[in-house]
Amino acid sequence: MQVVRRIREMQKISDKLRKEGKRIGLVPTMGYLHEGHVSLVRKAKERSDSVVASIFVNPTQFGPGEDFERYPRDEEGDKAKLDKAGVEFLFIPEAKEMYPPRYQTYIEATEVSKGLCGDFRPGHFRGVATVVAKLFNIVKPHVAVFGEKDYQQLLVIKRMVEDLNFDVEIIPGTLIREEDGIAMSSRNTYLPAAGRKRATVLHRSLEKGKNLFESGERRASALVHAVRKSIESVEGVSVQYVEIRDAETLERVDQVSGPAVIAVAAMVGPVRLIDNITIGGEK
Ligand code: AMP
Repeated sequence: MQVVRRIREMQKISDKLRKEGKRIGLVPTMGYLHEGHVSLVRKAKERSDSVVASIFVNPTQFGPGEDFERYPRDEEGDKAKLDKAGVEFLFIPEAKEMYPPRYQTYIEATEVSKGLCGDFRPGHFRGVATVVAKLFNIVKPHVAVFGEKDYQQLLVIKRMVEDLNFDVEIIPGTLIREEDGIAMSSRNTYLPAAGRKRATVLHRSLEKGKNLFESGERRASALVHAVRKSIESVEGVSVQYVEIRDAETLERVDQVSGPAVIAVAAMVGPVRLIDNITIGGEK
C-alpha cells in the first residue's frame, strides 16, 4: 500500500489509473479504523480495480466545542488494517493543504441536511459535503462507499452527487455492530465501561421499534414514542432525537408505508452516539 500525502500526487496517480482503464473505488474515513470501515473497503474492492482509502479529520465538519482536537488517531494501526484489507493507496492529506489561507468555497445540500443531526450539529453537513467534493476531485473515483451508520450523511452525499452531476456511483455499506449490538464507531473509545453498557440501549430500543412496526404499528408518532421511552429508561442516557424518515429521501413520514429509517442520537454521559435501523422492507 502506497501512502500519499500531497493532493497533486494523488491526482497524478488517479489520472494514471484511469488512463490504464482501472476503476477507482474510494473509501473516505477519519481514521481510528474498525471493522465497519474495513467492510467498506471490502465493498469497494468488489466494485473497483484499485481502492483508495483516505484518512482526514476534517476540521470544517466539527463545530465549536466538539471533539476535533481530541478525535482519536492511530495512523500506524490504520495502515496495517487497510494494507491487510487490500487498499492500494492511502491518501492522508494535511489540513493546511486541504484548506489553505483564503479558502472560501463550501457546498450545502439544503433540505436533506435539516433535522436529525443537522439540528444538533449546525454546519456539520456543509463541512462533510465540501470535503467529500474535494476528495472526489482529488481521487477521481468511479465509485465511493459510505456507511449506513451515518445515514443522513449518506443521503447528503447522494443528493450532492446528483445535484452537482458528479460522475461517481455512491454505494451504501451496511451498518456493522459490536457483539453487544452497539454500532461500531471510532468514538466508542470515549465510553468508559459503565457508559458502554448503557449505550447498548440504543440498538435494543431500535429493535423494539422495528418489532412494533412488524407487529402492525404504522404511526410514526407511536413508533418514535416507544423507542424514545425505551432509551430514556436507562439512567445516564439522554435522547437528542428519535425520528422516522423515508429511507430514500429522508423526508418526514407520519405513516410508515414504505422503506423508512428510525434514526436516533443520544448522549451517553458526555459522549454523543448515533444509530439507526431500517424498517418497511428493502430500500
Ligand atoms: P468515519 O471515519 O467515522 O468518518 O467513517 C468513515 C466511513 O465509515 C463513513 O462512510 C461511515 O458511515 C462508515 N462507518 C463508520 N462506522 C461504521 C459502521 N459501524 N458500519 C458501517 N460503516 C461505518
